[in-house]
Amino acid sequence: MAEVRLREIRKSFGETAVLKGISTVIPDRAFVVIVGPSGCGKSTMLRLVAGLERADGGTISIGGRDVGHLEPGDRDIAMVFQNYALYPHMSVAENIGFGLSVRGLPRAEIRERVRRAAEILQIAHLLDRRPRQLSGGQRQRVAMGRAIVRNPKVFLFDEPLSNLDAKLRIVMRTEIKRLHRDLGATSIFVTHDQVEAMTLGDWLIVMNNGHIEQEGAPLDIYARPATAFVAAFIGSPP
Ligand code: ADP
Ligand code: MG
Repeated sequence: MAEVRLREIRKSFGETAVLKGISTVIPDRAFVVIVGPSGCGKSTMLRLVAGLERADGGTISIGGRDVGHLEPGDRDIAMVFQNYALYPHMSVAENIGFGLSVRGLPRAEIRERVRRAAEILQIAHLLDRRPRQLSGGQRQRVAMGRAIVRNPKVFLFDEPLSNLDAKLRIVMRTEIKRLHRDLGATSIFVTHDQVEAMTLGDWLIVMNNGHIEQEGAPLDIYARPATAFVAAFIGSPP
């Protein structure tokens, strides 16, 4: 079970309150999209779940376990970023397996797990290449391979498709949903793109200015926006 539960999460940077009491429950194995305008606090929220930032108040639990005091490596999560930095001097296989070798896993096991992740992502034929020999979409798959190989209970996606061209973005959306189905992990996907949110999410959390405006199934939110902000944000074209 990897339900993610946030209760009254607050976070400020200096004088600026960035998260103003966020409470929500993301059920085990759900695919939830957090959508909201740039600067509303989406990345900060994900970084708190990942353990890359500490909350000023409130609690976060993953699978019923309070993770507030746990280091990122002990939280059973993997994060995929927009600006995925691959190591240019390493092969694709080494890039995917890097986190595992740092943890000292046996080489044969690393090789097997890298191979399996690469097969899932359909990049098994690229394992010996260097990042500079890959297309943007292939690089994105390598970045996802790094997350998959760790076999996490929770995937955190922070606008992973924003740097891709429109056509590839649509292909990768389908891929991410397929991965979600096949891997059976809980997924939290952050985007500022309303269309992406509507197509991807089984459940949407609409954020604005450090708080949650509305949660619900995409079509319910579209049909019955709870606030003027949601009506304008979800209703207007991107
Ligand atoms: P989003 O991902 O929705 O675009 P962020 O969570 O990145 O929003 O940022 C929310 C607000 O917090 C922004 O105003 C941003 O400038 C501020 N912020 C984020 N991280 C920091 C930080 N490390 N130090 C100071 N301010 C930050
Ligand atoms: Mg962000």
